[in-house]
Amino acid sequence: MTTTSRQWLLNDHPRGRGIEDGDFKLVETEIGDPSEGQMLLKTHYLGFDPAMKGWMENIADYVAPMNIGDVMRGSAILEVVESNGGKFAKGDMVFGSNIWTEYCLHDGEGLFKVDTDLPPTAHLSVLGTTGMTAYCGLFKVGKPVAGDTVLVSGAAGATGSVVGQLAKVAGCRAVGIAGGPDKCKWLVEEGGYDAAIDYKADDVKAQIKQHCPRGVDVIFDNVGGAILDDMLANIATGARVVVCGGISRYESGGTPTGPGNYFNLIFRRASMAGFIVIDWMAEFPAIRKRIESFVQDGKLTYQEDIQEGFENAPETLKRLFTGKNRGKQMLKL
Ligand code: NAP
Repeated sequence: MTTTSRQWLLNDHPRGRGIEDGDFKLVETEIGDPSEGQMLLKTHYLGFDPAMKGWMENIADYVAPMNIGDVMRGSAILEVVESNGGKFAKGDMVFGSNIWTEYCLHDGEGLFKVDTDLPPTAHLSVLGTTGMTAYCGLFKVGKPVAGDTVLVSGAAGATGSVVGQLAKVAGCRAVGIAGGPDKCKWLVEEGGYDAAIDYKADDVKAQIKQHCPRGVDVIFDNVGGAILDDMLANIATGARVVVCGGISRYESGGTPTGPGNYFNLIFRRASMAGFIVIDWMAEFPAIRKRIESFVQDGKLTYQEDIQEGFENAPETLKRLFTGKNRGKQMLKL
């Protein structure tokens, strides 16, 4: 029996604007049957990241370019429904980078068996790229030491909420910046942050000064733009500025004007560095175990925002850019 599957194709490059409905096209495709060494996989969950918009635009060279008509890429948790001598056995649950499809044929390259005592969705959130990004960005680039003040933008998001708790594990004071009173309340009451700053309310620069009176030792920036500039105005001597992402610019065209306060890097003998988390891929299994133990010991909680229905994949991606998501954005098929 030949399997067919619905798939979401890239239909336009959303450059200089937000994602629109016409950027994707839903099609029904004939998948065929697994040949020798292949498996038929069924997608159970898709994971979403703001960087996916950049993939659609082809703005970065760390992923292969996306062409119109390609099936949209994304992380996924999949079940092996048939294996013709493939890498995994029928019934196995696997995770990794894949495409927006209900079913696909796969040789298993780049996929890994679900291996956790946490719910399997953790492989897309706290044990997935999100958790790895928080851990590697904070510890390998930010290098916090006990007593440091760590300031995080996009703090209530999937990555930012993990960064704050890891900073607490490292003995630091964690201050988070997020949009709106509800998210800020969540940051201090449940997200482990010592203080929260609502960037949609008062003067951000003044609020940072109030909550970080000795200056900021580590900045973990997910947002860029004016918020990054306000954070740079308050750095302590020897500060490390970790550039993780810049969602404030993902919907505008061109490149933003540089932060006006960058000269503070000189006055404060500070450094600013970007990173791409996949550079530490070889360490992911060990980091996963470490993060899993933090969760099991009650030192780390994580939030997942699970929408439903394959037809809602584009709408689910859009939620990241309006701040509708509460924690790691996923979709259950
Ligand atoms: P997320 O933080 O869960 O979701 C995005 C959040 O960004 C929204 O909830 C919203 O929160 C905030 N936001 C949206 N538009 C904004 C704007 N104009 N100004 C300020 N904040 C805005 O997403 P995530 O998956 O954890 O990703 C966080 C960042 O990490 C992204 O920038 C992503 O590209 C980056 N990343 C980097 C790497 C790497 O290797 N460098 C790897 C993975 C992810 P509010 O409601 O608080 O505004």
